[in-house]
Amino acid sequence: TGIYNSVFQLTDHLKVPTDPDLGIASFVLSQFPHPHVAESKLALIDSATNQHLTYAQLHRSIRSLAGGLYHLGVRKGDVVFLLSPNSLLYPTICLAVFSIGAILSTANPINTSSEIAKQVLDSGAKLVISAPEELHKFERIQVPTMVTSRQSKEGNSLSIQELIECGDTHEVHEIRIKQSDTAAVLYSSGTTGTSKGVILTHSNLITTARLVRWYAEETSSVNDVFLGFIPFFHIYGLVFFGYGLSCCGITTVLMQRFDFQEMLKAIQVHKVNNIAAVPPVVLGLVKNCKSNDSLSSVRRIGSGAAPLSKELSEAFRAQFPWVELRQGYGLTESCGAATVFVSDEMAKAHPGSCGSLLPTFSAKVVDMETGLALPPYKEGELWLKGPTIMKGYLGNEEATAATLDKDGWLKTGDLGYFDEDGLLYIVDRVKELIKHNGYQVAPAELEALLLSHPNILDAAVIPWVPITMEVVEDEESGQIPMAYVVKAVDSELTHEQVIQFVAAQVAPYKKVRRVEFIDVIPKSAAGKILRKQLILQTQRPILSK
Ligand code: AMP
Repeated sequence: TGIYNSVFQLTDHLKVPTDPDLGIASFVLSQFPHPHVAESKLALIDSATNQHLTYAQLHRSIRSLAGGLYHLGVRKGDVVFLLSPNSLLYPTICLAVFSIGAILSTANPINTSSEIAKQVLDSGAKLVISAPEELHKFERIQVPTMVTSRQSKEGNSLSIQELIECGDTHEVHEIRIKQSDTAAVLYSSGTTGTSKGVILTHSNLITTARLVRWYAEETSSVNDVFLGFIPFFHIYGLVFFGYGLSCCGITTVLMQRFDFQEMLKAIQVHKVNNIAAVPPVVLGLVKNCKSNDSLSSVRRIGSGAAPLSKELSEAFRAQFPWVELRQGYGLTESCGAATVFVSDEMAKAHPGSCGSLLPTFSAKVVDMETGLALPPYKEGELWLKGPTIMKGYLGNEEATAATLDKDGWLKTGDLGYFDEDGLLYIVDRVKELIKHNGYQVAPAELEALLLSHPNILDAAVIPWVPITMEVVEDEESGQIPMAYVVKAVDSELTHEQVIQFVAAQVAPYKKVRRVEFIDVIPKSAAGKILRKQLILQTQRPILSK
């Protein structure tokens, strides 16, 4: 039939509950450690401040924040927009929002005011919760704001911290949350165009929480100490650190943002066993880890969000033979991981692979010309199906219909194949998306910006991978956004001016870092940019050097 099904089953106690009236927050709280353990068991430690929360404190914080938000008028279905680096409060805010049936929308705190304004508007947010240093980005937005920190004297936003400290005084009226209700709207550009709101339901989130628990049990990680520096606003961070790991009674050491030396320090101080990472961090360890003792407590490193090459995996294993390195693959639209490695033997034997389908997932590899499902080893577009697949894109039926087919298959826009053991290999991306350091960059967004320049007539943005002698060097930041620009006749526009023009208006990871002038942008008869042609044209001369 050409359909690949997961070879794993969720054990009975992890089966997805059929009760339609269940929200992700009640589910997660029901999985917390037993009350007498919860009083002393640490849920979260902030590596910079050493502040921590036990599971009992986390439970109380969630309940009092939920009560406080409800008292302030936040109701079921209201969107709450959260803009903050990783923090001790992040999981509390997520779970409090979920528990009153409100909808969480997160964003990258390094995004610019206008990027943020677009998302706040598109999601229809009723309340903004912001880290104090990001509050200025909401000055022009007519939405009430709250700060995460304690109130400053001059500030006039309410404080989440103070609301929590108020205690559990406000009664939340009975709120009926159904599994089919929307829990979160995260932003992704999908296969084409600009950023869109990915609708994730309570049922999607409950299934991912169960999958995290299943994975922790299968890999005996339930007593591990995890290090969390990957951004919690992104699906990878949200599933693990926002709610998933707290279903397993795990202790998380969080870092507000990634810093190599701070990471090594946190590993040593807290005897970290398990790290959720991205390829540039794996590369950093291979290149910069002076003393192998630095990783002596680490048992396992997961890598996701972007491709981890066979060469880099092998270099890492040679240097740190006691650390299990496991690649996973997923996307916002599948609510996080769809494939992982459960056994280290398998991971070691298949270094370029992303692992096997997680329980509940099915997949197809589809020939993009014939639409037929392909057998093992044949490359095509990966399609995924299962209970974690998004409901659709917010207010965008056209993009939803182009991404989810009538039978519920999600077209990932990734090119790959399965081997005969059901291991997935991702070989390329057929969608427009560029990934820089694991972050999404939508070419369409940069093209629109370039076209707003008075001296630019046309533009196309493509991913560029700098190729150097050292193979691993390529993976420092993954792909780099590069622009082909048609400039107005007689214009004196320089490469540097184009780079500056974009840089002034976008978050740093979206900067165009290379520009080429061209006479005409190659397009199909229907006016679609022929990106593959530009990509080939770009890589060829560099490769032949
Ligand atoms: P996001 O929605 O930001 O998580 O981005 C999802 C996209 O990241 C996928 O569709 C892939 O293109 C890419 N991606 C994620 N994990 C991997 C991986 N292990 N190997 C290759 N590409 C990946």
